[in-house]
Amino acid sequence: MTNPVQVPTNVLIVGVGGQGVIMVSKVLATLCQNHGYAVKQSEVHGMAKRGGAVFSHVRFGPQVWSPTIPEGEADVLVALEWAEGLRWLSFLKPDTGTFIADCQRIVPPFACRNRGRGAEASYAPQTPEEIIQQVHAGYAMDATTMATNLGNLRAANTVLLGALSTALDFAVDDWLATIPQFVPPASIDINLAAFAAGREWALAGEKRVDANAEGPHVSYTEIRHAQVDTVVEIVEERCKGCDICVKLCPERCLRLNDSLVAELVLPDLCTGCHMCEWLCPDFAISVTNTPVPEPA
Ligand code: SF4
Ligand code: SF4
Repeated sequence: MTNPVQVPTNVLIVGVGGQGVIMVSKVLATLCQNHGYAVKQSEVHGMAKRGGAVFSHVRFGPQVWSPTIPEGEADVLVALEWAEGLRWLSFLKPDTGTFIADCQRIVPPFACRNRGRGAEASYAPQTPEEIIQQVHAGYAMDATTMATNLGNLRAANTVLLGALSTALDFAVDDWLATIPQFVPPASIDINLAAFAAGREWALAGEKRVDANAEGPHVSYTEIRHAQVDTVVEIVEERCKGCDICVKLCPERCLRLNDSLVAELVLPDLCTGCHMCEWLCPDFAISVTNTPVPEPA
């Protein structure tokens, strides 16, 4: 018979490159170690560019033999990107597992099937409402907006850590003492605020869907066949000239200028596909598509 005390707790953290999956994993693993647990952590990453899948398994308990979580055995699944969360959903314990996900969608370049302006990109069709109804406990959060409102959208992973803290049995002060070890000194305050915001949001109910969770899905679908005005904004101070957006823009309408900053040189060709925005590792680009009203 299995001794329940010996059974490890399994936390699976998934997302795409550039979102901070490994940071979440390290905070949790360190916290577990500080509490004297045996910890095994395994990860697949190396995707320096945004868009590539990244995941990390964290297992802790009195004794842990294997570093990977079998399918159907995750006590908590933390998803920093919505579709990645759905891809790993079968790893969650069906009767007791907790699903914590940011509803942010990052669509990989190969999902762009139509090069028309405002075209639809292929993406997981299930709504947050549908998924949260399927799991034992679930939180579909708008962590990215919460972090943005606090002053740094990169702290979205810490918002999710706050929600994760409600599913595990560690004291809040222990989380707050561990997080600063894994974030830049200048962003410690924002990250601690992000943790508090995520924790508070999750404590408000076991099956929650953020009111904004449907926003990007609905608006993107609505504009897919409409005429749109597209604006591409590039924040010069954030651009490090890595050339990713230039190389991956399907329409080849970006280039690096003499100061090695990306700029839109062929705006008429831009389809507003968002690829540059989603793939920029430094969050330097934003693309806004505004539907043009039909003539009366
Ligand atoms: S805008 Fe982003 S992806 Fe493009 S060159 Fe600058 S840092 Fe790289
Ligand atoms: S500039 Fe950006 S939004 Fe416009 S076509 Fe290129 S990748 Fe797409």
